[in-house]
Amino acid sequence: MRIQGDRVVQVGTWEQMQAEVPASETESMREIPDAVIMPGLINSHCHLELGMARGLLPRNEAFPMWVSRLRKSLEGAGPMQYREAVRLGALECLKHGTTTIIDVGNTGQSLLELAGLPIRSYPHLELIGLDPTLAEARLDAALARLAELPPAGERYHPGITCHAPYSCSPELMDKVSRATGSRSGPYTLHVAESAEETAMFREGRGALFEFCRRIHPGLRMQERESPVAFLHRNRLIPRGSLFAHCNHVDADDIRILADTETSVVHCPRSRDFFNHRGFPLELFRAAGVNLCLGTDSLASNEGLSLLDEMAEFHRENPSVSGRDILAMATVNGARALGLDGEMGRLRPGAKADFIALEMRHHPECDLYEEIVREAHDVLLVVIGGEEVVS
Ligand SMILES: [Zn+2]
Repeated sequence: MRIQGDRVVQVGTWEQMQAEVPASETESMREIPDAVIMPGLINSHCHLELGMARGLLPRNEAFPMWVSRLRKSLEGAGPMQYREAVRLGALECLKHGTTTIIDVGNTGQSLLELAGLPIRSYPHLELIGLDPTLAEARLDAALARLAELPPAGERYHPGITCHAPYSCSPELMDKVSRATGSRSGPYTLHVAESAEETAMFREGRGALFEFCRRIHPGLRMQERESPVAFLHRNRLIPRGSLFAHCNHVDADDIRILADTETSVVHCPRSRDFFNHRGFPLELFRAAGVNLCLGTDSLASNEGLSLLDEMAEFHRENPSVSGRDILAMATVNGARALGLDGEMGRLRPGAKADFIALEMRHHPECDLYEEIVREAHDVLLVVIGGEEVVS
C-alpha cells in the first residue's frame, strides 16, 4: 500500500505497484511480515468517560438498579478523573486497532480530552431531560458549551445528542436533532435496549417507567406502542440516524428503521452483561439495515477492544460470515458516519487509517474468518498517514 499525506494512493502486490509506479528514493518503506494490513476499526458506540466504573458493577441487573449503582460508583469524581478515564479509554481503543470512535458522554469531559488525542473522534455531549419546559434551556446550555470547545478539525468532530426516548422529552429530542450538524456525525440515541423500556412504552408500566416517573412526576405514556413507533409517530428519527442497541424491536420497527436509513449499533458484550435478550439479527439483515458494532462502556463491558467484540459476535452468530462481521466494524461504521468510501476500506483516495494484525494467513482458510475468530495482537496503528501505535 502506498500512502501520500493522509491518503491511500495505491494498493496491490509489490510487483503490481512497482510496475505501475516504481518506488522512488524519496519514499520511506516499511515491511511488516506475518501480518494482515487492514482498515482501522470503527467503534460506533462507546462512553469513554465511564471507565472509572470498570469491573465495579455486577452483571445481570435490572437497568434502573445498574444506573443507581453506576451513579454511586462515580460519586466524588471530578473533571480530572473523567478526563483521565477518557484518555486511558482512547489509548485502549488505539492499542486494539480502533482508529475512530463515536463517543457519548454527559459530563462534557470527553469532548475536551479527545480534542488533544490522535484517535479520530465524534464525541457527543449527551442531553437528558423529561421536562418539556426545560428543553430550550438545555439545548442553549449545550450549544454554549460546544462553542467553548477547541474547534472541530480533520480528526475531531464534537457534537450534541440525546440519551434515549425514555429519558428525554419529545421537545428536547426534536430540538437537539435539528441542531445536530452533519459534520459531527449522525444523531445518536439509545433505543429499545431493554425489556423494561418496552414495558414502559407498550404497557405504561414497569421498573423503568417508575424510575423515570420519580424523576419527572408529570410523565405520561399516551399511546401503547414500541419505542421506535413512538419516535416515528413524533417525527423524531432524522434520516441517517444512529441508534444504539435496538435489542427489542419487531418487524414493524425494523421497517421504520430501514425506511429512515437508520444505522443500528449492536453491542454484543454489553447486551450479555445486562442479559438483554432479543436483537433480531436475521430480520435486520433481511431488511438491509446498516449494522455497526460498538463496545458500549466499561461500566457494562470488560474491555474496549473491537477485535474482542467481533470474536464474541462470531461465537454467538457462527452462521454470519467473517466478511460481514468485519464490515460491521469497518465499512458499516463509515457508512453510518456518511463516509462510505473515505473510511473503513483501503483503496486509492481513502483516508490512510489502517492497522496491522499479527497473524499468519493459512491459504486454505477464509482470511476474514481468521481475523474475526479470535483477537490478534495489533502491531501498527496509522491514522491519517501518521503512525500512532508502532
Ligand atoms: Zn450507550
